[in-house]
Amino acid sequence: MLIAGNWKMHLDARGANELARGVMDATADAGPVQVAVCPPYVHLGALSSTLKNSRVRLGAQNMHSADKGPFTGEISASMLLSVGCHYVILGHSERRQKFGETDASVNAKVKRALRTGLVPIICVGEHLRERSAGAEKEVVASQIKFALEDLKLVAPNALVIAYEPVWAIGTGKTATPGQAQEIHALIRSLLVRQFGGEVASGVHILYGGSMNPGNARELLVQPDVDGGLIGGASLKAEDFGAIVEIAQSVSR
Ligand code: PEP
Repeated sequence: MLIAGNWKMHLDARGANELARGVMDATADAGPVQVAVCPPYVHLGALSSTLKNSRVRLGAQNMHSADKGPFTGEISASMLLSVGCHYVILGHSERRQKFGETDASVNAKVKRALRTGLVPIICVGEHLRERSAGAEKEVVASQIKFALEDLKLVAPNALVIAYEPVWAIGTGKTATPGQAQEIHALIRSLLVRQFGGEVASGVHILYGGSMNPGNARELLVQPDVDGGLIGGASLKAEDFGAIVEIAQSVSR
């Protein structure tokens, strides 16, 4: 199980440090559950020191696909690695919707992240209109296919997928456990086809979309739900810690 917090564009330096310390305390006894926080870029260096010697890993929320160059305002995978990042979220729906992220750019970023030694958390998920039209499987399968195009994977822990139905992000609406499991099983089958059963069975497939301490258990007990990507509830150490505790209690 992996529980990762996406802090989005929240918190100043002091608030980020306080939350990191809170998460560290709240998740100290998480047993086999892997824990990560993904703060805004500017806090990564400082939090790397704060989280040193703790079980909480650091992730970024995006990166550029090039390693360096004339890309004002952008950040590369090697920079993220050099400040202690383990994970990088790629293709989050907010980036696809608001910043022009495409399947092709996600694929280029995934390749760069893997080559550099970062673990990409690749986000996929359908819009409400697509689910209403019964097209959710088609949409997610296509996003997975493009994100993983030309990619070889030898170790399951080199990659994480997050299924995040867009209509459930920040809305308080959550996919039902059955809806989540159905899409997670589809994603697993696509991973099996591309990487083989042994690798695919070990890839963490996270659910994201208004997960909180009240609904985490019913989602996390699903056989193909291997954790959560948590937005709103990751901004309170107590709630995030409670989700990690639930993950620990249902850990496989
Ligand atoms: C997210 O943005 O990745 C997310 C899951 O947000 P929330 O938990 O707030 O829906």
